[in-house]
Amino acid sequence: MALLEIKNLRAFAEDKEIVKGLSLAINPGEVHVIMGQNGSGKSTLLNALAGHPKYRVEGAAAFDGKDLLAMKPHERARAGLFLAFQHPNEVSGVTLSNFLRRAYVARHGKEVSVAEFEKILKGKMRDLGMESSFAERGVNEGFSGGEKKRSEILQLAVLEPKVAMLDELDSGLDVDALGKIAETLSSIRKPDTAVIIVTHYARILKNLKADRVHVMRDGQIIASGDGRLALQLEEKGYSWINAAAPAL
Ligand code: ADP
Ligand code: MG
Repeated sequence: MALLEIKNLRAFAEDKEIVKGLSLAINPGEVHVIMGQNGSGKSTLLNALAGHPKYRVEGAAAFDGKDLLAMKPHERARAGLFLAFQHPNEVSGVTLSNFLRRAYVARHGKEVSVAEFEKILKGKMRDLGMESSFAERGVNEGFSGGEKKRSEILQLAVLEPKVAMLDELDSGLDVDALGKIAETLSSIRKPDTAVIIVTHYARILKNLKADRVHVMRDGQIIASGDGRLALQLEEKGYSWINAAAPAL
């Protein structure tokens, strides 16, 4: 059974249709990459799946056998569907460590003491080769592009979601940093979990094997394939895929 099965999903902001009937099935253990030009609806898709209140959603989505669209955002997070926060500014003034502890409580549905959580967090950071002082920084205080991504990876390592969604994995990263993030992501993957990555660059696939690559245009998936699709897209550009997949 697919871990996440989306059927004919539509997402609207106010009355504007942004995701226009999208279907996608993700099995345990898989990595799916979503590419597509700016404005094609990638972020809206991920936000709608996470339950962002800004979007009205139609269609069907089953997550781990349950009706995802009937669940409130916190229920989705608790069930293990997780959209990494790129800019968790709703908790500004809070350290990363505190932010992660709250997220951990939300994910697991039980309280954890500061001392207990410290132990868990230190262990994860050690595994990831991160300095523990990183977690004592304010979540919103001058993180560089690379630090924001490291904080997202740390969120994943701590929360252990069943389906992790990462938007714009490449934003603010140079090639070396992107390679490292991809490697780390690879190392924390588990066979019963899945990952959805939005990225603009095929080079991430050098360090992380993708099972499926999807190209979005105007709220729909216009092409799906394996890693070679991403490489072709990088080489030939979106005009090539637009010509290959005429207006739907
Ligand atoms: P992508 O992530 O692929 O760049 P987005 O999902 O951010 O694309 O946006 C797709 C389109 O939907 C854009 O034209 C954007 O302006 C529009 N859009 C997204 N969210 C909203 C919103 N809350 N209100 C109005 N328009 C929105
Ligand atoms: Mg986006």
